[in-house]
Amino acid sequence: MRIMVTGGAGFIGSAVVRFLLKQTSHVVLNIDALTYAGSLASIPPVADGRYLFRRTDIRDKDGLEQLFESFRPEAVLHLAAETHVDRSIDSPGDFITTNVVGTCNLLEAARHYWNCLPATARDRFRFLHISTDEVFGDLGARGYFTEKTAYAPSSPYSASKAGSDHLVRAWYRTYGLPTLITNCSNNYGPYQFPEKLIPLTILNALAGKPLRVYGNGCQVRDWLYVEDHARALYRVLTHGRVGETYNIGAACERKNIDVVKAICDILETLAPHKPAGVGRYENLLCFVQDRPGHDRRYAIDARKIARELGWEPQENFESGLYKTVAWYLDNSDWHHSVGHGSYFGERLGLPQDS
Ligand code: NAD
Repeated sequence: MRIMVTGGAGFIGSAVVRFLLKQTSHVVLNIDALTYAGSLASIPPVADGRYLFRRTDIRDKDGLEQLFESFRPEAVLHLAAETHVDRSIDSPGDFITTNVVGTCNLLEAARHYWNCLPATARDRFRFLHISTDEVFGDLGARGYFTEKTAYAPSSPYSASKAGSDHLVRAWYRTYGLPTLITNCSNNYGPYQFPEKLIPLTILNALAGKPLRVYGNGCQVRDWLYVEDHARALYRVLTHGRVGETYNIGAACERKNIDVVKAICDILETLAPHKPAGVGRYENLLCFVQDRPGHDRRYAIDARKIARELGWEPQENFESGLYKTVAWYLDNSDWHHSVGHGSYFGERLGLPQDS
């Protein structure tokens, strides 16, 4: 199969590209604008010609149409997006142009290309849109997001992702484009840009910087190891029912404060030599004013993907977090090469999580 991946230089997109190159024989075209969040250093060198990269912005409609014509994909995995909630609060414009308009451009380029395919190729074509559980908004203390939960996004980021989900559904209903949507919980693992909670905490702790936590730190997120997500996406792409939505999660709810403390504990073992003046890593913890509109809890009901497609997560949070911390310690070349972006918490005086 010839698979077009958008956002393949980002955190989850690069995990998907690495999965496809390692576990399948498909040909992969990675389309990415290489914003601050994208890095080609996240994709290992590939010798056998199965991997192509084109630096393209999904806001460039003509560029996308040309890529569909030249690459002739049999499937699209759409991950390119602006993803950082704090950035969306400060400057929502890029989130609308990339996440909403960019997704519309991609759908239109896909539709025009797909319309001209022979009937059998049209039937086989798939467009998988990757989205977030944040579109469902604040869950409160009880219950879980199912595929039927009403959309109630709280932030400009989640509102823009909700908008893109609606476009994808409309292109299926109106034009018959064979689309699928996944809504996933918070991911963690290697190659995540160090502005999100877990990598930011690891690198700040190692540098002896404050570990700032929003509000009282009791916001609950449902964590999924990124390689489990990549496997789930391939399962949905190859076995999912067209027009359907699948929630993806690992039933792994943790309070932010507990995640930060768990990272500190792992670092005590793996990185006992600290910057001068730092006692225990946990002493670096401090609480700051909460993020505006901060959702208290997200939690996914992932029974549909388990029941229909037989997918289940393999990594548990404790071992996955340990592996993640160890990866950041072993891969300082990677995090030095991507830097911390211009939005590394300090700019707002606030910590980041996704
Ligand atoms: P990321 O920020 O790490 O990567 C996004 C990638 O998209 C980067 O490589 C960036 O260069 C690229 N990109 C941004 N704007 C672009 C544009 N206009 N044109 C082309 N490329 C552009 O994001 P991520 O965490 O890997 O998330 C990937 C997808 O998964 C997103 O759609 C996100 O909404 C969704 N998602 C993420 C999480 C999570 O926890 N990270 C959870 C659920 C869903």
